[in-house]
Amino acid sequence: MKKQIDPRMHSAEHLLNQTMVQMFGCDRCFSAHIEKKKSKCDYYFSRSLSEIEIKLIEKQVNRIISLNLPISEKLIPIQDARNRFHLDRLPADAGDTIRIVSIGEYDHCPCIGPHVNSTEAIGSFRITTHSFAKGVLRIRFRLKQTD
Ligand SMILES: [Zn+2]
Repeated sequence: MKKQIDPRMHSAEHLLNQTMVQMFGCDRCFSAHIEKKKSKCDYYFSRSLSEIEIKLIEKQVNRIISLNLPISEKLIPIQDARNRFHLDRLPADAGDTIRIVSIGEYDHCPCIGPHVNSTEAIGSFRITTHSFAKGVLRIRFRLKQTD
């Protein structure tokens, strides 16, 4: 049995992915390891990030969190989804509809994972370390609950 994914961490993963796409034009992470205390995401990338860039990513993710955007989901026909999203990893027997998870207007992504209801519940986002090797950028992060 796969253990339950932490909704706060997993929601933060969505924000980090969209931020990486917008800031660097890369794809969403191809691999993620999400745990309650610390998580990591791997991106296909061409170089290492500077400390300034890391701070900019943190700042942007925390800015979106502070906007307290609603996180919602809806089912759309799979044909519509094919025009808007990468569905490479979708199983062949996925059915006629697909669940799209939206974080305000910031991020839309097909996903079956658990999420919090709004971004403020994520807490504060911090990148602990990052590394680059063989075309893979790894970003490790933690969350601090603000309440
Ligand atoms: Zn998700």
